[in-house]
Amino acid sequence: MQTILIVEDEPALARLAHDYLARAGYRAVTAAGVQSAGPRLQADRPDLVVLDLGLPDGNGLDLLRDLRQSSDLPVIILTARGGEVDRIVGLELGADDYMVKPFSPNELVARVRAVLRRGNRRRDAHERIDAADLAIDIPRMRVTRNGVPIDLTATEFHLLATLAREPGRVFTRGQLLNAVHGVMTDAYDRAIDAHVKNIRRKLESSETREHYIQTVHGVGYRFADAG
Ligand code: CA
Repeated sequence: MQTILIVEDEPALARLAHDYLARAGYRAVTAAGVQSAGPRLQADRPDLVVLDLGLPDGNGLDLLRDLRQSSDLPVIILTARGGEVDRIVGLELGADDYMVKPFSPNELVARVRAVLRRGNRRRDAHERIDAADLAIDIPRMRVTRNGVPIDLTATEFHLLATLAREPGRVFTRGQLLNAVHGVMTDAYDRAIDAHVKNIRRKLESSETREHYIQTVHGVGYRFADAG
């Protein structure tokens, strides 16, 4: 049974998350702040952490930063409405996903499942990515859709491969910029938008369909997760 640690100081919210995750078949444990999260991480060895950023005894982002020094334990952060900067910083510190409060507990369960599934997929990632009707051949830098080759530039290829390797994961523009570092010559955040636009033009029948690469407003992009 997989263990989920919920770090949340609002008792009603912690309880709700706990009950829904328990009902979904997870072992759920809770901590009400940064201080109490440490011992829980040690004692319960969670498989995933749901982390509120606004905690009474510290900032969840500091806890996330500490965690990332030593592990790649999956983390879903909980942020306040309008807390876009927190969201972006959280993702850049290595959070796997985020949820904006107030959120539906069913949605939380779905995100937990998706992040854990992604973790499994990452472990047995191969050099060829099959996503819907796309096939991405990493060593040969070749993309085909339904067997038909699609001509991408090196930057476009690396951007697409980065996103498609972890379907459903939200990447900030800064993260995508890092991923194509050394490939991309125009190194500023908004250049990512132009490249994504070009990839879409080549992949999609219509630029607005966002069938493969989805825009996450105010944050960045993600590759569609077919489940
Ligand atoms: Ca809080």
